[in-house]
Amino acid sequence: MRNRLKTPEDFARHFELSETERTAIAHAADRLPIALTPYYASLMSRTDPEDPLRRAHVPREDEFIISEGESQDPLGEERHQVAPGIVHRYPDRVLFLITNQCPIYCRYCMRSRLVGKMDREHLVPVSQWEASIAYIKSNPDIREVLLSGGEPLALGDERLAWLISALDAIDHVEVIRFSTKTPAVMPQRITPGLIKALKTDKAMWMALHLLHPREFTPEFIRAVDRLTRAGIVLTTQIPLLKGVNDDINVMKELMQRCVRHRIRPYYIFQCDPIHGSAYLRTPITRGLEIIEALQGSLSGHAVPHYVVDVAGAGKMPLAPQRYTHSADGYHHFINFRGEHAQYFDSESPALYDSKHDANSKNSATRKN
Ligand SMILES: *Cc1c(COP(=O)(O)O)cnc(C)c1O
Ligand code: SF4
Repeated sequence: MRNRLKTPEDFARHFELSETERTAIAHAADRLPIALTPYYASLMSRTDPEDPLRRAHVPREDEFIISEGESQDPLGEERHQVAPGIVHRYPDRVLFLITNQCPIYCRYCMRSRLVGKMDREHLVPVSQWEASIAYIKSNPDIREVLLSGGEPLALGDERLAWLISALDAIDHVEVIRFSTKTPAVMPQRITPGLIKALKTDKAMWMALHLLHPREFTPEFIRAVDRLTRAGIVLTTQIPLLKGVNDDINVMKELMQRCVRHRIRPYYIFQCDPIHGSAYLRTPITRGLEIIEALQGSLSGHAVPHYVVDVAGAGKMPLAPQRYTHSADGYHHFINFRGEHAQYFDSESPALYDSKHDANSKNSATRKN
C-alpha cells in the first residue's frame, strides 16, 4: 500500500504515457483519485495505453466526458441507505460499506462518488459501526451481510476480526460475504494473519472482482489457495468493459481459469453508467453474445449470470433467448447450435406474450 503509484511523477516513471493519459492524470483526483499497486502495475504494458488492464485503471481524458444516461449514483444507493454504510435494497441481505479506501482506483467504479474521497481511513468511522450493527441485529430478516466499500480488505486484521465477531454474535446472520478486488491487485494482503482474522462459524463467501485471465499469476493463485483452504467459498464478479474483456476468447479463458482454481463464476456485470464511463461501456447485445458463446462451450458451472443493475430496480439477469413460441401444446426452442427443438406441455400457455416476444427481441443472440 505504501509503495503505490499515486503521483503524476510515479506514473510517468513507470509508464510511457500517452498525451491523453498525461493530461488526465494531472486532473484525475478532481473526479477519482489515482493509485496502483506496484504488483498490479507490473501486469500492465509499460508502452501500450490500450493494454486491457491499463485501459481500465490508468485515466484518460474520456473519463471527464459525461454522456447521456450517466449519473453519480447509477444504482440509486443513496436512497436505500438505512444506517451508517448500510444499503438495504433486498429483503434478506444488506450491503455494508465499511471503508472508502481501495488499493487501486478503477476508472469505472460505480461508487466513485464515495471512494477515496476523504483523506480518512474509513467511510464509516468505527464508532458508527455500532449503529450499523444494531440495525442488522434488529432486523431478523437479514440472513446475509455483504462487506464491501471501497475495498473491505483494506482494513487492518484487528478491525476485521472485531467486525466478524460482532456479526458472528447475531444469530439470524447466516452468511458473511466479502466483495473484494484485493486478491487480484494485491495478493500479498492474503496473509495467514488475515485468514485468522476472518475466522467465523458462519458461512463465509468471497466474491472476487476480476477482469482478465492475465490476473491469474502465481501470487494470485497462492492467495486463492489460502482462501479456499480456509473454507471460504469463492465466486467472481466481472465488470464487462470495452477493450478490456468484451471478447469471447478472453472471457472463456477467464472462466476456465476460475473453475480450475475453485472460483465459481457468479456475475458478469454490464458496466454501470457512472459519470465518464462511456469509453469503457460495451453494448448489452455484446454481453449477450458472450454469454451465448460461453453457454455453447463451457460447463454450466463455468457460465456466470449476466446482469444489468438498473437504478432503483435492482439486478436484471439477461440470458440468450432459447424459447421461440408455442403452438398446439408444443413449446419451441432453439439450442446453442441453432437447432430447433420442441417440448409438449399443453397445460401451459405460451411462456411469453407478444409484449415479451422472444422472436423480435434479443435478435443479436440468434443465429438463424
Ligand atoms: C448486488 C447487491 C446485493 C447482492 O445481490 P446478489 O444478487 O445476492 O449478489 C445486495 N445488496 C445490494 C444493495 C446490491 O446492490
Ligand atoms: S476496487 Fe471496487 S470500490 Fe475500489 S475503485 Fe475499484 S471498483 Fe471501486
